[in-house]
Amino acid sequence: MRGPVIFSWEDVISPGHGAHNVVIHEVAHKLDMRSGAANGAPPFHRSMSPARWHEVMTEAWEWAHKAQSHGRPVPIDSYGLEKPGEFFSVLSEHFFMQPESLFEHWPQVYEQLMLFYRQDPLRGCFVS
Ligand SMILES: [Zn+2]
Repeated sequence: MRGPVIFSWEDVISPGHGAHNVVIHEVAHKLDMRSGAANGAPPFHRSMSPARWHEVMTEAWEWAHKAQSHGRPVPIDSYGLEKPGEFFSVLSEHFFMQPESLFEHWPQVYEQLMLFYRQDPLRGCFVS
């Protein structure tokens, strides 16, 4: 929990395919753990609303679980539905690797991640 994240060079130069990226996934966990357990609630910037984050993420989480239980497609890898910490890490992968898809399905989630990472991958710019 307090130690470094260690990647194999192989994973760094070829981190995954599609929306998968093991480097982004593990670094997202590390950022999440800056506020304690990897629970999907990383430390927020002062300009962010933790209540809004919780509302948006909970709504997406519940929607995804409901869709999955009805056999409908979910816009992220189902591994992200195992627990909130995985949800945040998998969403982070999608945010950077397939931002168009994430924005299309969950624009509010995209917005929260944009505020957290202070980047807008769709426009290819930083956000202050
Ligand atoms: Zn994970």
